[in-house]
Amino acid sequence: MLNRPIGLLIALGLVLLLVWSRLGGGSTEVARTALIMGTLVEIKAVGGDEKDLEGAINDAFSAMRQVERQFSSHLPESEISRLNQTDAALEVSPPVFKLLQQGEEIRKASAGAFSMALGGVKKLWAIEEESPHIPTTEELAVILPPLNQPAVRFEGERVRRSSARVKLDLGGIAKGFAVDRALEILRGAGIVSASVNAGGDIGLIGGHGERAWRIGIQHPRRQGELLATIDIRDRAIVTSGDYERYFERDGVRYHHIFDPANGRPATACQSVSVLAPEAALADALATAVFVLGPKKGLQLLERFSNVGGVIVDSKGNIEATKEIKDHLLWR
Ligand code: ADP
Ligand code: MG
Repeated sequence: MLNRPIGLLIALGLVLLLVWSRLGGGSTEVARTALIMGTLVEIKAVGGDEKDLEGAINDAFSAMRQVERQFSSHLPESEISRLNQTDAALEVSPPVFKLLQQGEEIRKASAGAFSMALGGVKKLWAIEEESPHIPTTEELAVILPPLNQPAVRFEGERVRRSSARVKLDLGGIAKGFAVDRALEILRGAGIVSASVNAGGDIGLIGGHGERAWRIGIQHPRRQGELLATIDIRDRAIVTSGDYERYFERDGVRYHHIFDPANGRPATACQSVSVLAPEAALADALATAVFVLGPKKGLQLLERFSNVGGVIVDSKGNIEATKEIKDHLLWR
C-alpha cells in the first residue's frame, strides 16, 4: 500500500501528464498533400482525433478542387472558360461573381497593375509550357487589352467580358481564394490549428500548438535559402516571385507575372510577400505589387487595413511595411 501523500503526488503527476499531452507533446498533427491547380498543396491540422483531422483535410481538398473546376481557364467547362467563349452576359455562381468583383476592386486600386484580362498574353508567351515564345511588339499589340478597362462588367447577377480582347485568367487570385475556402472548411469542422500551403499561398488557423506558425520566406536568388521567417497566427501570407515559373533566353529571365501596360514580364521586383487577413486578397496584392514595384507597391499596401508586405526589388533591395516588421526575423 502506498502512503497517502505519495499516492496524491502520483495522481497529480498523471493529471499534469494528461494536460501536457493535450497541449503540446502528445498533440496529434496530420499533414497531407494533394496536387491541385497545378500546385502541390499541403494541409496540416493539429489537435483532436486523427480520423477527424484526416476527414476535414479531405473535405478541404475537395473544396479546393471545386474552386479549380469553377475558375480554371484550362478546363473548357469552367465558369471562367464559359465566359471566355461568349460575348454575352452569363449568370455565374456566387463565388465566381464575388471573386470577379474583388479582382475588379484590386485592378482599380492598383491602377490596372492587377489584371484578370491577360489570358491571351499568357497563352502567347506559353511560359509554363514546353516551348515558350518571346512575342514581338506587333504580336502583343493586337492582343493586349486596354489598360484602363475592367476585365468584366456586372449586369445585375450576370457577368460579361468587357471586350473580345479580354481572355479572363484568374491565376493571380484564384489560388488564394482556394486556400480561403480550405480554411473555411477546416474551421467549420471545429479545427483551431491548421495551415494550408498552396505553393507559397499560405493560410493559417490559430497558432501551431502554443506558438505562432513560423513561415519561411524564400530568398528569390539563393535557392533553398530563406530571406526571413515570419511568426503569425490566423493570417494569410502569399509570395509572388520571378524564380519559380520562368525560362531564360540569352541571359534574360522571362517569368509569368505580366505588366498589363505592355504585356511583358514585369521587371520591378524579384519577389513580393503580402500578409493579409485573407489569402485571396494577399494573392492579388502580391501580384499587383510585383508589377508596381516598391514605391507604388508600398503605397498600395498601406491603403488596406491589416495588410503588410516585404518587397525585394529587381536589384535585390529589400523594403518592408511597418505592419510586417514586427513579425519578421531576418535570416
Ligand atoms: P503564383 O501563381 O506563382 O502563385 P501569382 O499569384 O503572382 O503567382 O500569379 C501569377 C499568375 O497570375 C500568372 O500565371 C497569370 O495567370 C496571372 N497574372 C500574370 N500577370 C498578372 C497581372 N498583372 N495581374 C493579375 N494576374 C496576372
Ligand atoms: Mg497572386
